[in-house]
Amino acid sequence: MILGDQLDHEASALRDFDPAQDAIWMAEVEEESTHVASAKQRTTVFLSAMRHFAADLKAQGWPVLYTELDALGNTGTLAGELDRALQQTQPQQLVMTAPGDWRVLQSLRQVAHQHALNLEIRDDNHFFSTVREFAAHAQGRKQLRLEYFYREMRHKTGILMEGKKTVGDQWNFDTENRNSFGKQGPGLLPPPSRFAPDAITQEVMALVNHRFAHHPGSLASFGWPVTREQAQRALAEFIAHRLPHFGHYQDAMWEGEVWLYHSHLSCALNLKLLNPREVVAAAENAFRTGQAPLPAVEGFVRQILGWREYVRGIYWTQMPDYAQRNAQDAREPLPAFYWTGQTDMACLRDAIQLTLAQGYAHHIQRLMVTGLYALLLGVKPQEVHQWYLAVYVDAVEWVELPNTLGMSQFADGGLMASKPYIASGKYIDRMSNHCKGCRYNPALSTGESACPFTTLYWDYLNQHSETLAKNPRMRMQLNNLRRLSTEEVAAIAAQAQAHRDQQQAG
Ligand SMILES: Cc1cc2nc3c(=O)[nH]c(=O)nc-3n(C[C@H](O)[C@H](O)[C@H](O)COP(=O)(O)OP(=O)(O)OC[C@H]3O[C@@H](n4cnc5c(N)ncnc54)[C@H](O)[C@@H]3O)c2cc1C
Ligand code: SF4
Repeated sequence: MILGDQLDHEASALRDFDPAQDAIWMAEVEEESTHVASAKQRTTVFLSAMRHFAADLKAQGWPVLYTELDALGNTGTLAGELDRALQQTQPQQLVMTAPGDWRVLQSLRQVAHQHALNLEIRDDNHFFSTVREFAAHAQGRKQLRLEYFYREMRHKTGILMEGKKTVGDQWNFDTENRNSFGKQGPGLLPPPSRFAPDAITQEVMALVNHRFAHHPGSLASFGWPVTREQAQRALAEFIAHRLPHFGHYQDAMWEGEVWLYHSHLSCALNLKLLNPREVVAAAENAFRTGQAPLPAVEGFVRQILGWREYVRGIYWTQMPDYAQRNAQDAREPLPAFYWTGQTDMACLRDAIQLTLAQGYAHHIQRLMVTGLYALLLGVKPQEVHQWYLAVYVDAVEWVELPNTLGMSQFADGGLMASKPYIASGKYIDRMSNHCKGCRYNPALSTGESACPFTTLYWDYLNQHSETLAKNPRMRMQLNNLRRLSTEEVAAIAAQAQAHRDQQQAG
């Protein structure tokens, strides 16, 4: 059994595949696009990559049982399609690589059980670490911090290490990274790697536009890699043209610019068109051959060897309860403009419109614009989660959920993040040019021109001050809150409530 995010010829499920007696099962089903309203770009990238992968397998003479989305009799669910295939083919046993989604694992297990079939679930050897290793790391720890896990991974793999010593004598180079573009802006940017849709992708695009016409986003600019060969080209172009500046501008934003110096490889990685080992090796090699500086390379390696592995560990050790967590009891609905981008807040408008157009936004747009606003507004984390899972081409639950619930919304109460990622509009002003063209003023927390981020930031600190006071890392922000007069705090609270009411009213 090969799922839509397991498009890897080296997948553990295919390890001992024998075309003389085995067959591969793959299915396109409506449920995977409707359990959240999957954006058109997201559905297209999955279906097109699946069809290309199945074509490769067939070309090498392997039997593939493949159901297309609009095939006659398609039941619309993975469970239904597996059930149908089992009735037709009567296999002796099922083999799969561990899926990336708890819900999918449960439903496939149940079908195997109903057919009294042995389902062998193999470790996903795509990753550097196993869930068991993460569980051992997590044992006895109240909080799970990336830094310690990342250091273990560096030791384990020897990446950017010289024996037991770190290359450059530092674990991370954050102080040299994370600059803004300054007033002059980013200047001439290297072009992103985009791929013109071939006949298979065009067919999928027509299908998606027809079947999921009302789903978010548009396919007008679709250009994601959908084959391994394209993904490898995208990797090579990133290493040559964008990696050298990756660290420096990792957190910077600029109106209308979504690609910047990021890799845009998350989708190819999550579909397993690329192996993280080859991505990290290419980056390390760029440093060792003098093509990219160490701070950029270490910053990039940490995202993949650190964050990506770490969030997967969190997901599989904390599910299924994790998905329901709401440590701050946030209850507001997600504002309707998240699905349209129609808001007068310039930073949110830009991040959401780019997201809907491309199925992509970079990390800081996700964390410190759309995520930050939802956190400060007090949106129910499960609604925020559904949005992130729906709109991004790289969204698969094992990686999306901990990033949203844990890192961005602090809904796990600090299991993952040592403090909530909160900031006022002044942070966005520092890291971008959005505020220059906005009707609001990031320096103001009350009044007609007050920036909603700034108002909500102070209100958030005030509302959660008792709990946050227990966290030493919040001391400075709380001290600043205490400098405000009672009248100022009351005015902020009133303005924040008016803003929430306005959002609720649409
Ligand atoms: C609220 C929220 C939701 C997110 N949802 C997803 C998601 O559904 N899928 C997803 O792959 N990433 C998600 N991320 C993490 C990150 O934002 C994306 O991986 C990144 O923006 C993808 O763009 P890129 O490939 O250009 O990344 P780059 O900035 O070039 O980073 C390189 C690679 O590192 C990995 N990476 C970077 N940050 C993280 C992270 N925090 N967690 C895991 N891997 C990371 C990705 O594989 C990425 O391709 C989310 C982050 C936030 C704050
Ligand atoms: S002023 Fe506030 S709402 Fe407007 S762009 Fe800046 S941070 Fe965003």
